Amino acid sequence: MRKHMGRTACLIISMLLLLSGCGGEGSTGASEEFFAMDTYMRITVYGDDAEEMAEEAKDEIERIEALLSITGESEIAVINAEGEGDVSDETRGVLERAIEIGKLTEGAFDITIYPVVDAWGFFSGDYRVPDEEEIGELISHTGIENISISDDNSVTFAQQGMGIDLGGIGKGYAGQRVHDLLADYGVSSALMELGGNVCLLGAKPDGSLWRVGIMSPFDDSERIGVIEAEDVSIVTSGGYQRYFMEDGVVYHHIIDPSTGFPADNGLASVTVVCSDGLLADALSTALFVMGEDGACSFWKENGGFEMLLVTDDERIIVSSGVADFFQPEDGYITEVVSR
Ligand code: AMP
Ligand code: MG
Repeated sequence: MRKHMGRTACLIISMLLLLSGCGGEGSTGASEEFFAMDTYMRITVYGDDAEEMAEEAKDEIERIEALLSITGESEIAVINAEGEGDVSDETRGVLERAIEIGKLTEGAFDITIYPVVDAWGFFSGDYRVPDEEEIGELISHTGIENISISDDNSVTFAQQGMGIDLGGIGKGYAGQRVHDLLADYGVSSALMELGGNVCLLGAKPDGSLWRVGIMSPFDDSERIGVIEAEDVSIVTSGGYQRYFMEDGVVYHHIIDPSTGFPADNGLASVTVVCSDGLLADALSTALFVMGEDGACSFWKENGGFEMLLVTDDERIIVSSGVADFFQPEDGYITEVVSR
């Protein structure tokens, strides 16, 4: 949700290059490639009026960025600067869902993590390692229970120093909005690649499943396998996507809200497959925070999504609903988790 480009952008481009989402023979597609929400995006639409539809899709992404970004004069940026503010019904809807998922994940997904992410320098690019005392103080200004939204859409915080970061959910929401918009226009086949988020509208134009490459969290020139799917979002979160190094230690951008430090719970990346793009995005972040055991328990207790976990020790764990649709690259063995 930020506008500067850096190492992350390069990593994400190489990830996109690994995605195999071609349209199929004889299909006429039009693509828009652009930089938004702090990442490279490519939207490819097939069928009649493809060019116009791709432009509509880009406009929709930019509209949502202007609403939810932490920069500029978005509704969220105003709240963060003033400590309160009024929001549109649309932003309210996103906030309410984020809060609901925060409760469901018992705080692993927490949009009030803003001051902590800020202290680590992930918004400005001026990276630093805050000390324990500073983190402790900042953590005391987080928690979704400290956000209130009144009937007339006024957002207030229970404490000073709080802020909202929709960076863990915004691209998923945007992808879903574009999906629904294009579907309303009658488009039956489109591919939205929004950084680490992929949103599929329908199947490929020739009717076959899309093939989405899942990047290795250990080597950005390799992928660990391919997921075949249609009409779902496939969202990956990983420490390798945005990070800095200090004194030989890697500090990445997904913060464990219980510690205020980058989540270090044994996972290198998490991919979520779900027909709800917003949920896919929020859960990929949350499951990364939960770690292997937490993620597997959460999946067993909650339906509505499938997942692929890559552990720090290079194991791949897939939930049973996606197991038949995942083709690992040679050398990777997958473990299947079932309910
Ligand atoms: P994602 O790439 O979707 O996993 O989202 C990561 C981004 O979400 C980070 O760059 C932060 O802006 C924000 N974030 C970091 N940790 C959390 C968390 N535990 N819950 C919600 N958002 C987070
Ligand atoms: Mg996310």
